[in-house]
Amino acid sequence: MSTSEKHPELLKALEEIVGAAYLYIGDDRVAPFVTDWTRRFGGPCLAVVRPGSVDEISQVLRACAAAGVPVLPQGGNTGLVGGSVPAASGGQPPVIISLLRLTELGEVDELSGQVTVGAGATLGEVQRHAVRSGWRYGVDLAARDSATIGGTVATNAGGIHVIAHGMTRAQVVGIEAVLADGSVITHLSGMLKDNTGYDLAALLCGSEGTLGVITAVRVRLHRPLGRTTVSLIGVGSYSEALELMSRAGVASDSNAPGSRLLAAEVIDAPSMDLVCAVADLPWPLEQRWPIVVLLEVVDGGDGSGLPLDESADAVVAFDAADQLRLWAYRERQAEAYGTTGVVHKLDVSVPLPELAACADELVALINTLPDVETFGIFGHLADGNMHVEIVGPAADDLRVDLAVLECVARYGGSISAEHGVGRAKAADLHLCRSAAEIAAMRAIKGALDPQRLMNPGVLFV
Ligand SMILES: Cc1cc2nc3c(=O)[nH]c(=O)nc-3n(C[C@H](O)[C@H](O)[C@H](O)COP(=O)(O)OP(=O)(O)OC[C@H]3O[C@@H](n4cnc5c(N)ncnc54)[C@H](O)[C@@H]3O)c2cc1C
Repeated sequence: MSTSEKHPELLKALEEIVGAAYLYIGDDRVAPFVTDWTRRFGGPCLAVVRPGSVDEISQVLRACAAAGVPVLPQGGNTGLVGGSVPAASGGQPPVIISLLRLTELGEVDELSGQVTVGAGATLGEVQRHAVRSGWRYGVDLAARDSATIGGTVATNAGGIHVIAHGMTRAQVVGIEAVLADGSVITHLSGMLKDNTGYDLAALLCGSEGTLGVITAVRVRLHRPLGRTTVSLIGVGSYSEALELMSRAGVASDSNAPGSRLLAAEVIDAPSMDLVCAVADLPWPLEQRWPIVVLLEVVDGGDGSGLPLDESADAVVAFDAADQLRLWAYRERQAEAYGTTGVVHKLDVSVPLPELAACADELVALINTLPDVETFGIFGHLADGNMHVEIVGPAADDLRVDLAVLECVARYGGSISAEHGVGRAKAADLHLCRSAAEIAAMRAIKGALDPQRLMNPGVLFV
């Protein structure tokens, strides 16, 4: 019996809820939803539903709960830890609930500087909506035109402006979600003072589809920052990179006068070589450096916020087109590694004082690991966040993953800086969360999803 021939009554109920046009069954129809962006993760589903309203999502969850069938909420499917697609094997194939039809953009509340948006709106759509009203949204990342706001909340996405505005959780002031039993929780007033019990919005941030389906989010907006300068600067080591960043200052609140750091990114030489080859870009600096740092500084657009002395090997961009050209060296990294085959993508963070030593040890360590053909590190320097990309080992060979994560844990770091735990790191959660913490998380999961139907296999094994 094929997957879609099971549960005929549930499939009939789903068709009645969303309409035949929005129920996808069969390998061809579901193909775009069952393999992830990395091509490393994916597996069978029972069906894909594309509901058009909160009420339809509630009915879908009630029907799946009654049938005992798991559900998997999906946004733009740009997640990098296997949480957005079904497991390759084991367990019942889930019903994938695509949020891509919930794209409503509410009117910007000028008084509070907030807006409520549908979970399926892309990050880019929310950013442009804010700009049209004279505001800006504080989260930005390279997958902005595919990743949804619901997905960024479900993963507590970070991105390139965390040092200035914080992670996604810091932007969320209200949420609407459907729980596993179909009940709808709506708390979208956005009031800054509201001490009435548990903060369910914060709880759903980073829950990776394991506690409920996020259907709408109210986010805070920021005032425009003024003109920026972007620079690529060559340095000899991670220690020098950190020292340079520190001279550029630290982020502060959006009302602070003077120049301040909006982004500090790092790209090592192997990653630079790769992006230059794949994107047909020239090496941007005069000399070949082991590490290139990208700084974006809010300084009126005159370069005065950059910590460059006369000996620095740097390129500086003042206008928007030039700045995009420099950002491409960093933003096209994921795409560049994607062309090399199946990549073991390890998104980790360490306390800033430990970053240089940890990065150096990782490079030495990975050089000794079996089957590694090539590897590199790029990431969000200011947040202590390194993306370690390793090519060579088979997709299901987890030895390199474990070696990197254990090394990071020894430095007091996190095995997931911003991408989430997903399926990729569920077995490794104990490396940076205590048994008591994991038991508390499991208790919350059990209370909200007693049948364990919400994205099973993600976050916990
Ligand atoms: C080129 C590229 C660059 C990236 N850069 C960054 C970066 O800088 N920083 C960063 O943090 N991430 C980055 N990512 C990862 C990814 O874009 C983020 O994790 C993003 O938040 C995922 O959003 P999505 O809509 O694609 O979610 P999906 O991939 O569809 O889902 C991700 C997880 O969230 C859950 N989920 C999705 N929508 C909902 C919902 N409405 N309700 C409940 N659960 C839901 C899913 O079940 C899954 O567990 C990048 C990815 C790519 C491809």
